[in-house]
Amino acid sequence: MNILKLRPVLKLGVALALAATLAACQKPAQIGNVDGARIAAADGNTEWVSYGKGYSEQRFSPLDKVNTTNVAQLGLAWYAQFDTDRGQEATPLVVDGVLYTTTAWSKVYAFDAATGKPRWSFDPKVNGAKGFDACCDVVNRGVAIWKGRVYVGALDGRLIALDADTGKVVWQVQTTDTSKPFTITGAPRVVKDKVLIGNSGAEYGVRGYVSAYDAASGKLVWRFYTIPNPTGAADGAASDKVLKDKGQATWPEGAWKLVGGGGTVWDAIVYDPALDMIYFGVDNGTPWNQKERSGGKGDNLFVSSIVAVKADTGEYVWHYQVNPGESWDYSAVQPMILADLTVAGAPHKVLMQAPKNGFFYVLDRTNGKLLSAKNFVPVTWATGIDMTTGRPIENPAARYGKDVDLQMPAPLGAHNWHPMSFSPKTGLVYIPAQQMPFAFQNEENFKYKPGAWNLGVNLLANAAPMTAAQTAAMAAQVKGWLIAWDPVNQKQVWSAPHPYFWNAGVLSTGGGLVFQGAAEGQVYAYDATNGKQLWQYPTQNGVIAAPMTYELNGEQYVALMVGSGGGGQVSAPSLMPTRPRLPGRLMVFKLGATAKAPPFVLPAQPTIDLSKVTVNGDPKHGYVVFNNNCQVCHGANATGSWLPDLKRSPLIITTADFNSVVMEGVKAHNGMVSFSRFLKPQDVEDIRAFLVGQGKGDPLPGATTVSAK
Ligand code: CA
Repeated sequence: MNILKLRPVLKLGVALALAATLAACQKPAQIGNVDGARIAAADGNTEWVSYGKGYSEQRFSPLDKVNTTNVAQLGLAWYAQFDTDRGQEATPLVVDGVLYTTTAWSKVYAFDAATGKPRWSFDPKVNGAKGFDACCDVVNRGVAIWKGRVYVGALDGRLIALDADTGKVVWQVQTTDTSKPFTITGAPRVVKDKVLIGNSGAEYGVRGYVSAYDAASGKLVWRFYTIPNPTGAADGAASDKVLKDKGQATWPEGAWKLVGGGGTVWDAIVYDPALDMIYFGVDNGTPWNQKERSGGKGDNLFVSSIVAVKADTGEYVWHYQVNPGESWDYSAVQPMILADLTVAGAPHKVLMQAPKNGFFYVLDRTNGKLLSAKNFVPVTWATGIDMTTGRPIENPAARYGKDVDLQMPAPLGAHNWHPMSFSPKTGLVYIPAQQMPFAFQNEENFKYKPGAWNLGVNLLANAAPMTAAQTAAMAAQVKGWLIAWDPVNQKQVWSAPHPYFWNAGVLSTGGGLVFQGAAEGQVYAYDATNGKQLWQYPTQNGVIAAPMTYELNGEQYVALMVGSGGGGQVSAPSLMPTRPRLPGRLMVFKLGATAKAPPFVLPAQPTIDLSKVTVNGDPKHGYVVFNNNCQVCHGANATGSWLPDLKRSPLIITTADFNSVVMEGVKAHNGMVSFSRFLKPQDVEDIRAFLVGQGKGDPLPGATTVSAK
């Protein structure tokens, strides 16, 4: 071929190749084109590109078009209704005009952020039986977005990468051992092309870790185990060296070797790009009771700790343990916020956390040194934190034994996963805080039950019969507030009480506002400086998720997932509104909007006639077995109304029907798996006898000192 004739063809080829390259570059620029620089910049701009807005997770937006002078005009711009009535914990993200959110059962949705027009949805089709492994509802807290992909952690332990434009699966990996009761409820974060994801399961018995997967391929890059391998072997993981050097000696003999030890990383993961450090929070140990877990000895690293690692390798940098030898489900997984503060006259790069134990911690995040700590709610387990050692000054009674220790905070914490917010404008942290007492007592003859809750704590102690006066006194101790906290001076500036203890995540804005929903079915806006309520809107259903805000085409929007659920609703239903479960909704507000979401059609409550029902069981033993096996989902003494109220269930009328659910697992698709692993046939009939009695209004058959057979 004549070389001269080839030249135009070559030129054309180069041009085509160039066009293709340009097209490839331009495509991700349109949808979901998030990288590290964009997440780092998101703290101060109109976007919301990562779980806590930007890497610092302050959940403060400088947007001020909606402000203290006009927030009263906020109305509904658009809404979407979902197909699940379980808890909605997600914070939506808005990137390139698209709003991404998740619902219970790890489903992902993409909408046009201005109009609410659906773009795509994705259902990972989690097996409903997996719901049994979720201690605190089948929730999901949201997605991560990176370079044209959307990442979601599914309840069954998969990490899934979706195309941000189409919702199609790009890759998925199983991040957990499917033979163990692991779940994922947390939002992934992406740091330097690595997707970070942890998991849950410390109530059941697993060994916790956090993993980094390559964002492009799904290949595991590094993994950090939070507690030593019970076999003493190395894992070939980033944590090997520090677990050998610092961890192993803190774990004497105990049930942890059998049970798995806990220490899951189920919520907070934050990143400081300047220090190139990732910080994550670690859950309680398994069993809860340290006497059972490690003979009552040892700090049990890194249970209940904040751990800092290098972003590229997962290599340990520092840790701070909020509860050495933790024994009360006082996890340190709660949301963390990074900020620059002047503490005691000196500037510090700080990390702030209000973990379950009720103290507000300010750490120097360069080295993990404790700068200050103060309780933000009343606590009974400790009198303070020793600033020399950084260790809590425990009340000796908190190390419970044979006697009941009535303690605050409860295992649900003084602050749980509900996101808090830091406003650089007011200098305040807005904390969704709560209070409830809990009776801690050793579980006599603790035995590991694979697959079940393994606490080493006598759950019956919280189901003891009480007089009306005792019930009223206990109820008076159950409280919920939004607390505005000055982190520099460690003191409360204002608080807004809620009628229920289990409240909702928080957003603060440059418009001088703090937004928060609530269990009673409202979303509120408060003046960030003094807590004055400036706006409220009826959401028709309880709220637990955090609001977020974004600006599009010059308009500011506030978006919120609506739907009650989560740990407080599931395990303490008698302290929550009696509203039935309702489908989740996404509600998006803007100034002057007048859209209306239709009223929910409330499901009919079953009425049953128990007058002719006969039982062949012992209600007194049924009371014991119920409270040891069923109360964490169906309420102490069958007071539940959110997950089925069993004393009003038509399924208790006959032994055959009750057995079909409890022993044969016909409702496994709802998470109610067969309990034949845990119960004998007579136990089930005894539970039925107890439930029928409660349905008829019988007094509790138990005595206060009853212990499990
Ligand atoms: Ca826990």
